[in-house]
Amino acid sequence: MDGCPYELSSEPSTVVDVMNEPHVLVVGIDGVRFDSLGAAATPALDRIAREGFLTPVRVHEKNATISGPVWATVATGVYADRHRVTGNSHHPVELSAFQDFTEVLRAARPELQTMIAASWHPLATRTECGPLFSSRGWVPMPDPEEANDADSWVRADDAVAEYAARRLKTENLAISFVYFGEADVEAHNNGTGAGYISAIERCDSRLNALLEAIEARPNRHDEDWTIIVLTDHGHLDAGGHGGETDVERTAWMAASGTGLSSGSTAVNHADIFPHTLAIFGVAARGSDGVPFGARQEARHETLQGPRLNTAPASPHNAAGSR
Ligand SMILES: [Zn+2]
Repeated sequence: MDGCPYELSSEPSTVVDVMNEPHVLVVGIDGVRFDSLGAAATPALDRIAREGFLTPVRVHEKNATISGPVWATVATGVYADRHRVTGNSHHPVELSAFQDFTEVLRAARPELQTMIAASWHPLATRTECGPLFSSRGWVPMPDPEEANDADSWVRADDAVAEYAARRLKTENLAISFVYFGEADVEAHNNGTGAGYISAIERCDSRLNALLEAIEARPNRHDEDWTIIVLTDHGHLDAGGHGGETDVERTAWMAASGTGLSSGSTAVNHADIFPHTLAIFGVAARGSDGVPFGARQEARHETLQGPRLNTAPASPHNAAGSR
């Protein structure tokens, strides 16, 4: 690990104080508009928001509003000017320089176990732009992109939830990343109407299954769990993204856990990497992000522009959804 920028840290700014054994679950839900999220019934996410925060997050200007670049930033803590993922089809050689946060944790703390499970195969396997997570991970078969219809994605997301819940309940996983993709595909195929809202609600049910698995752990009372849930970009009314409109460039993030509160709103996709590592006392000095709550207001303005905390469009923009 010569020259590795990641090491155990005692700097207060890079350490999150946890009283009990730390665990982190990061859940990615692809392509969910912030206003559509508000229109959907999402009791599991609401619970996380109540215990911590839920905030719109502007996709950083260095990243296109496309899955590959943004999930690569989530995995590596750097933007597309460094990881060079600019779309979904090409795996750039530059990405190989960046380990995902679960691999960095295992390098610093070899005794710890981690999990990645995702229905979109490029997140966890060598296909198209992948693997975006250097550790790779579990994917359902067949690949839902082959049929790319609602049924194939519902089955794939259900399989991911079942697999991840079983492991979360029974194994001692330090950091897990779990991903659901059906809402994004529904928007691409049919727009952001009633079917999209239903897809978002099914993803929330899957999130609930993960949270119930954690609550059922035999030593739950001796563990500190940080839960982070996020999307990568929004969608146009008719479905589609990659452009510069507010509905495409507005993502969101929710989190609960030790040290997080309703005041912890200044977060960016690149912050997940240093925050999860900080929980385990591992500094992420090469990252473009900072642990949640560490971002100065001035820097936050510079990085994200003044529109970050502006609600995206009108809550009634999702034509036909209600
Ligand atoms: Zn996406």
